[in-house]
Amino acid sequence: MTTTVTENNVDKIKAVFQAQQQTAIRLRTSTASERISKLKLLLSAIQKYEAEFQEALYQDFKKNRTETTLTEIVPLQSEIKHAISQIKRWMRPQSVSNPIHYLGTRAYVQYEPKGVSLIISPWNYPVSLTLSPLVSAIAAGCTAILKPSELTPHTSAALGKMVKETFDESEVALFEGDVNVSMALLDLPFNHIFFTGSPAIGKIVMRAAANHLTSVTLELGGKSPAFIDETADLQDTAEKLVWGKFVNNGQTCIAPDYLLVKESVQQPLIEHIEKQIEKVYNADKRGIEKSDSYCRVVNQRHFTRLQKLMEDALLKGATIAVGGKVNAEDRFIAPTLLTEVKTDMAIMQEEIFGPLLPVLTYQKVEQAIDLVNRGEKPLALYVFSKNKNMIEQVMSQTTAGGGCVNECLLHIGHPDLPFGGVNNSGIGKSHGHFGFLEFSNARAVLKQRVGFTGFKLFYPPYTDKVKNL
Ligand code: NAD
Repeated sequence: MTTTVTENNVDKIKAVFQAQQQTAIRLRTSTASERISKLKLLLSAIQKYEAEFQEALYQDFKKNRTETTLTEIVPLQSEIKHAISQIKRWMRPQSVSNPIHYLGTRAYVQYEPKGVSLIISPWNYPVSLTLSPLVSAIAAGCTAILKPSELTPHTSAALGKMVKETFDESEVALFEGDVNVSMALLDLPFNHIFFTGSPAIGKIVMRAAANHLTSVTLELGGKSPAFIDETADLQDTAEKLVWGKFVNNGQTCIAPDYLLVKESVQQPLIEHIEKQIEKVYNADKRGIEKSDSYCRVVNQRHFTRLQKLMEDALLKGATIAVGGKVNAEDRFIAPTLLTEVKTDMAIMQEEIFGPLLPVLTYQKVEQAIDLVNRGEKPLALYVFSKNKNMIEQVMSQTTAGGGCVNECLLHIGHPDLPFGGVNNSGIGKSHGHFGFLEFSNARAVLKQRVGFTGFKLFYPPYTDKVKNL
């Protein structure tokens, strides 16, 4: 269903935008305690709405309620608490040291709010990916208009209700809707746009931002590899990979997209992964389809896309090593591992974003590194190994937005690590101080003593005096 943007909607969007422009000027002088109060309001609102979000996400793609708390609510709460504890420090002007020819001046960086911000979010973690950038916007003293995804309508509606109840729309407002609403918003001269979504739409957003020279943070996606060598603890690796890949049904931007496994350990690793899948999703032996810990593909379009990726791979010679069961009516795809996968298959050309996991093997790690370096720069990269040299080689010869060694996904939750991609997987960083900086203008200030300057030599008329410097 598409959202028609009527003249009324556009008028409403413009009116809210103009009101926020006024507020943004006022917020330039907002204090740390004012921003902290707003974050506390947000924290209480999230607590109040937790059950509603759980229900909405269950309606949207059968997401388990506990999984919602663990992957949406808890990270968001800790992001807010961290910001509350750090805002004063982040806002403090940063003095810089003076070179000799600036002696007598005071030089510092003052962090001022960029102004009116737009936050466009995807559907896969709709609560945290809409509200976590809002935490940074509020911490930095910005106003914000939020546009969540149309693919999770129950959650977007709950978010809209919560925002309306918590904030005046001249400070924080939310517009539901699809691409049409996004485009109406993107016409406006925002001071900053924070977009989370696919690289293809990221390019559209960046083009629209260029019309107003609006700065952007683009949190995008891509194919995130996981390297596993012969020294890895295969049981531990399997446990971490199964969680990292199949949580949220593989619909996680930093999920391992494919495995690069040392040939000699492919088979034992697959056996460990298969056992782990059974343990976590089929503990009562009623079948994974009955597990209430395993959610569904978000909609029919994505289900068909994933089914085609699997069929294409099988037609071209891949084999199902684990799983493979699908049920279109329920948008169910079992956790599936594919072997004998070739790089020219569609499944290795696009981000999978679902519960399919191709397993590729290597004999020499250089081959695997070369494969990764031939593709777009990944959002995340994982290495499972006990071999320090191998870890160092992979980390130094590849590039990625972030990642983990002997762990999966958890870099995203660390309050002091920047989160984001690089080139095709993203521009700019988010979370904690890095998020605050994205919504702030680092303003350079030089204070001189009245009546004094060491730079009078620079004033014309120009003579040979420069030669004597
Ligand atoms: P998407 O790019 O299709 O949509 C994201 C948002 O953009 C939605 O709100 C949508 O309504 C809007 N949109 C769609 N078409 C638009 C257009 N033409 N112009 C303007 N706005 C438009 O992404 P999605 O399917 O919701 O999410 C999946 C993608 O997001 C994956 O690529 C995933 O890797 C990525 N992602 C990245 C992160 C991250 O933090 N880096 C997090 C989650 C998801």
